[in-house]
Parts: sequence; structure tokens; C-alpha cells
Amino acid sequence: MTEKVYVNRTLNLRKIRIIGFDMDHTLVRYHSEAFEETTHRLVVERLIRSKKYPEIIGSFAFDYNLAIRGLVIDKRKGNLLKVSRHGAIRAAMHGTKVMDFHDQKLAYGSTYIDLRDSRYSAVDTAFSLSTASLFMQLVECKDSNSSLALPDYEQMANDLMSEVDGAHRDGSLKGLVRKDLDKYIIKDPDVVEGLEKYRKHGKRLFLLTNSDFNYTKLLLDYAIQPFLKDVKHWSDLFEFVITAAQKPRFFFDSIPFLKVDLATAEMTNQEGVLVPGIYQGGCAQDFTRDLQLDGDEILYLGDHIYGDILRLKKDCNWRTAMVIEDLECEVEKNKIVEPIQKDIEKLMNEKHPIEVKIVDTISEQIEKKLSKSSEVESLQKQIEQIDEKIGIKIRERQNHFNPYWGEVMRTGNEESYFAHQTERFACIYMTKLSDLLEMSPRTYFRAPRIPMPHEMS
Ligand code: IMP
Ligand code: MG
Repeated sequence: MTEKVYVNRTLNLRKIRIIGFDMDHTLVRYHSEAFEETTHRLVVERLIRSKKYPEIIGSFAFDYNLAIRGLVIDKRKGNLLKVSRHGAIRAAMHGTKVMDFHDQKLAYGSTYIDLRDSRYSAVDTAFSLSTASLFMQLVECKDSNSSLALPDYEQMANDLMSEVDGAHRDGSLKGLVRKDLDKYIIKDPDVVEGLEKYRKHGKRLFLLTNSDFNYTKLLLDYAIQPFLKDVKHWSDLFEFVITAAQKPRFFFDSIPFLKVDLATAEMTNQEGVLVPGIYQGGCAQDFTRDLQLDGDEILYLGDHIYGDILRLKKDCNWRTAMVIEDLECEVEKNKIVEPIQKDIEKLMNEKHPIEVKIVDTISEQIEKKLSKSSEVESLQKQIEQIDEKIGIKIRERQNHFNPYWGEVMRTGNEESYFAHQTERFACIYMTKLSDLLEMSPRTYFRAPRIPMPHEMS
């Protein structure tokens, strides 16, 4: 059971006094493909209507597979990139076409991606998948219809992102969710049961979301309220419900809390020390101080590597837990591809001594001033044959994951950039909240000892 919660840094739940939850994609899960498809359609309509994009883009079909979490959009070149832990590009698409190694090299040389550069934008929440795939379709459309009046790649990316932002903010997307909650929102009674169990153990709970009060109420009424057994209302389950929190600013800025009336949604200034209730805005500094807690007595769970986890870890010393929904099928598939992985390792083991032999032979030739032997050529042929077999196996393995991008957490043998961020900033991680809640609130999560290369030889 323990292995459903993955540990980067040792965490003793007994030491945690209060546990906070992000709402969207953490406490409340979405039918993500349905939601992203709707976002895609809505944003296409908005681009045609408000930004006067050509009607032809209305025919784009949504392809959920075009993007995965952790990719990087290069707005300037119209590319989508998969980046290794060191920022090196390991896979790329231009528009909807896969770029081969040669084209990648031509476009980027040996550039390392620096996400602080505004030309790049990370696909770091499930809410960004539709943005990435729509951008790639726009790039493809521009490339194949030079007569169309489409702006340059970077402008298209900015137009698109501002329309996605608008659709989230002005209520148009949320209005569609309100009309068809079953289609978009997952009900998970296990989560509610787990939360009530944690309360029995004396754990205090709070909610901290960027969603506004009305949307928060809508989702909690739908996904939490029906399954409560020990308390009457979700506002009794969470000591604090903090809405419209503007994360990541919540973690480093100084923003006042406003008190929200549950019945009327009216807001008033919060005076004095924070008391249990429903709020809007606020900041981590005041929250931690008013609760008279040390930062490391607070655990916060979120799904957004930047907004929920990275800034929190950098700016406050709260403990962090990350929900990575995409891992659910990745963990299963990792088991399925195990035999293929073993074959790859076997072939690598066959290749290694031949490589050593080539190095030794050529070195000897140089040092002893010998003429080139045909032996090297034959060894190189053997390597080519093995590489071919390895290539087939790698493709076979990749086909089990996303057809364009493979796994979220890896780029070949290396960790992906997304995996690296998770490892650095999330104390623990899991595929869904109920995986944590089914564990006892007294669990001691111990980080595994990970051998360094010099310890493995
Ligand atoms: P949280 O995950 O509970 O903090 O809430 C995320 C909120 O951010 C949801 O209400 C989303 O609709 C909203 N959201 C997601 N992407 C964007 C965006 O690009 N602009 C503005 N709001 C967004
Ligand atoms: Mg979220």
C-alpha cells in the first residue's frame, strides 16, 4: 500500500498539524479530456470572434494526445519541446509534425532551455493541454496555408493564451461546467471518507484555491457535500476555505484576507487574527503567523508544479505534496514495458564491450603508430546492428505511452525536466489524493536512499 505515495523527502505526518488542499485537479478531479476539448472549442470560437482569425480554424478537431504535461512551448519558433532534467531538448514537434534529430539540431544547436525566458511557456497543469495542442494546430495551419491572414507564431501563442485566460476568468468555461457537472467533474466518495478520517485523528484541514467563491461552492456542493457523514456541511470539514487566492502570489506577497459570507457571497474586510471561515485572497505569511504554526507543520497538496509547489517550497517552508494524475497510467504501463526494458538493457550490455574494444583498438593504433585495421570497421558494423535492434525496442516501448512524447517523467534514460522539478520541490507525490488519504495520518514517509553513480559501480 505504501508505494502509492512516492517519497522525495522524509515526511512524518504526525508532525503535520494542518493539511491544505488545492481544489481543481487535486481535491476535485476533472474528466480532463472532456474539459480540455470544451476549452479547445471555446477558445477557437473566441479567436475567430474576437481576434478575427480565419473561419477555417473552426474545423480543427481536438487531439488530446498532442501534448502531455511538462512540455515546453517555444512561442517564437512554433515548437513544442520535451526537455531533460538539464534543460536539453530530447523531443520536439513543429506544428503537428514530429521534428527529427537533424531538424532539432538545426533549430536549436545545443541550446539549453531556460524557462525564465518569456518566449517559452511550460505546459505545467492539465489546464494547459488544450493550449499546447491548439497552438500546434495553428502553427500547422499557418505553415500549410501561406495565403491565410494569421499572425506570426509568437503573436498566435499570445492571442491564444489571452483567450484561454479570458475563458477561465470571465465565467464562460465555468458556466459550461455548471450546466453539465457530470460531464466534467469526478465524484470521489473515497476522498470525503479519507478527509473525515483525518479529522478524527485531530488533523486540521483547509482549502486554498485560485477558483472564485461561487465556483468553489459549486464544485464542493457537487463533489464533497453528498458524501459527508460526520459533519453536516463542507464548511465544517475545512477550518479555512480560501478562495481566489492568486497562487503563487499567495505564497510570497502580502495580500489582505477578505471574509466571505457563505449564504450571500458578500465580502467584508477581515480585521484582526484569522478565525475559521471562508475567505478570499490573503497570503501565506499572515496565515502561518495567525495560526501560530511553524511552516513545516503545514502540508499543502496541489497539482500545479509552479503555482502550488515550486514557489511554496522556495518562498515558505511549508511541506509539499503533489498530485500527478498523469502518473496513474504511467505506473501501470511501466509494469507492462518491463520485459521490453530488460531487452534494451541486454542489448546495451552486448554493446558496451564492443565500444570498449573499439576505443582500445583505436587508441593502440594511435599510440603505436599502427595502420588502421579492418577490425574496427567490423566492430562498428556490429554496433550498428545492435543499435538498430535497440531503436526498434525503444519505439516498441514508447508506443505504450503517449504516441508523440512517450512518458511524462522520462526522456529516454534521463529524468524529464518535469520529473526533476517534482523531485526537487515536492516532498511526496501521488497520482490522486485518495492514495494519501487511505494511509494513516500517523504515517512516517521515509525517503529511499538513492545511489549516486559512484556508488553503483
Ligand atoms: P486551483 O487549482 O484550485 O488553484 O484553481 C485553478 C483555477 O485557475 C481554476 O478556477 C481554473 O479555471 C483557473 N485557471 C486555469 N488556467 C487559467 C488561466 O490560464 N487563466 C486564468 N485562470 C485559469
Ligand atoms: Mg489545481
